[in-house]
Amino acid sequence: MDTDVIVAGAGPTGLMLACELRLAGVDVVVLERLPQRSGESRAGGIHSRTLEILDQRGIVDRFLAEGDLQPVGHFAGLYLDFDESESRHPYPLMILQSDIERILEEWAGELGVRVLRSSEICGLAQDEDSVTVETRSPAATGPTLTARYLVGCDGGRSAVRKLAGIGFPGTEATMTALIGDVELPELPEDYVWVRRTPGGDYSAIAFQPGWHRVITSEFDRVVDRDEEVTFEQLRESMIRVAGTDFGMRNPRWVSRFNDAARQADRYVAGRVLLAGDAAHIHFPAGGQGLNMGVQDAVNLGWKLAAVVRGQAPPALLDSYHAERHPVAERVLANTRAQSALVRPGPQTDALREVFGSLIVFDDVNRYLRHLLTALDIRYPIDGDHPLVGRRVPDAWLDDTEDAERVYELLHSGRPVLLALRDDTDLALVAKGWSDRVDFVEASSGQDLWNVPAVGDIPPPAALLVRPDGHVAWATAEDAAPDLPALRSALTTWCGPALQG
Ligand SMILES: Cc1cc2nc3c(=O)[nH]c(=O)nc-3n(C[C@H](O)[C@H](O)[C@H](O)COP(=O)(O)OP(=O)(O)OC[C@H]3O[C@@H](n4cnc5c(N)ncnc54)[C@H](O)[C@@H]3O)c2cc1C
Repeated sequence: MDTDVIVAGAGPTGLMLACELRLAGVDVVVLERLPQRSGESRAGGIHSRTLEILDQRGIVDRFLAEGDLQPVGHFAGLYLDFDESESRHPYPLMILQSDIERILEEWAGELGVRVLRSSEICGLAQDEDSVTVETRSPAATGPTLTARYLVGCDGGRSAVRKLAGIGFPGTEATMTALIGDVELPELPEDYVWVRRTPGGDYSAIAFQPGWHRVITSEFDRVVDRDEEVTFEQLRESMIRVAGTDFGMRNPRWVSRFNDAARQADRYVAGRVLLAGDAAHIHFPAGGQGLNMGVQDAVNLGWKLAAVVRGQAPPALLDSYHAERHPVAERVLANTRAQSALVRPGPQTDALREVFGSLIVFDDVNRYLRHLLTALDIRYPIDGDHPLVGRRVPDAWLDDTEDAERVYELLHSGRPVLLALRDDTDLALVAKGWSDRVDFVEASSGQDLWNVPAVGDIPPPAALLVRPDGHVAWATAEDAAPDLPALRSALTTWCGPALQG
């Protein structure tokens, strides 16, 4: 066996997954087709839940230092407000994907992740015990590598998905969008946000002094994704849509995308798994794809590590599909809706007017905001407490030297049993999992915890938090803890108790 896990692709998903696996002590090799980072700016931001996840690992400041917070969002170009009570990171951070990948790769280096570049996966075979991949470099055949598991984080055209025979059903493209980072000296405003015209729509956002990210969308043409993209096409498209090119010049990057939406029918196929764009593609409206990939990685990493270390059965990986497939299904649906809401024409104008008058209602605004930020996600985990299945809020803590707030407890990527009331029984139960689970006694520094989609609730008396920050078990402040349920949750998510 060359390594425990091979990760295909050093994009945001693959890098985050590799870091999570290394944090859990698993040996991992990332195979990346490109000889160096592409430097493509692509994604322009990260949402609240992803910022929280980075905070859970103690690296969010690296991202905050390089981006700008953006206090408003949009759904199909209609403005959304954010709510500071819902998260310590309530606003999206504008930061380019090229910077996100660089920061993640630096962290991967610190953790000892091996990234092999110029290594394209071109073949795979799996048996009961292992998976073998064939690689090639641009110049020659590369080495064959064997691992316990392979995770395809190799993007929307994933070779791993195709080689594993995993279906990718969905809907075809109905439009073509061009995108570029350019100088735009004649734009009369600072930015334009989804301006609709009879020919399509365009946006122009000042990303850094002197240059804009421009996007044009046209709905009367579907261009083959393999066709070459040129700056001239972007300029001509802007003239067709906006009537002018705003003096567009000096392109740094030009690309094309569309609204095809597809999702892998299985995220787990024996020893081969998929995450990120390899598992789902969609119209990039509202900037959700990279976020979802990072969140897939953080859902999967600790589970795969537990299976590789022999602490949990392979069936634990089924929960990865059960929890993450519905999340992407929801994103595909909301991006299809956004694609419909930006089409030209009087019917869509009327639909937008209705939608625009609904979006001012707090409940509607909140609902749409949650679709984008993913703060309301509840995984299907058994339990009556309103926190079970949801991400734990980053509440202030008192009476403990371990941390000032809950997310600091998750920096090591281990599960945490957090007792917020003295309870000797809990300490006894925790001993059974002391090699894998951190037991922390503290008190809540807040009278109420805000839980998106639930509201303000009293802090629980105790809770079991998985490494991805989702609550696997909790007991109310005025209730006796259900210890059999706690043992069952610990066994499900962390494996059997220590003997003796
Ligand atoms: C215009 C645009 C704007 C966007 N804006 C946002 C946004 O604001 N927010 C957001 O969250 N998302 C956004 N997205 C989506 C985001 O870019 C993707 O969801 C994200 O890149 C997915 O990351 P990934 O790691 O899963 O895949 P990728 O980034 O595609 O990485 C896959 C990696 O695998 C490598 N690879 C491919 N094949 C092989 C192989 N056979 N062997 C080895 N390596 C291989 C590739 O070279 C690549 O490095 C946007 C996308 C576009 C196009």
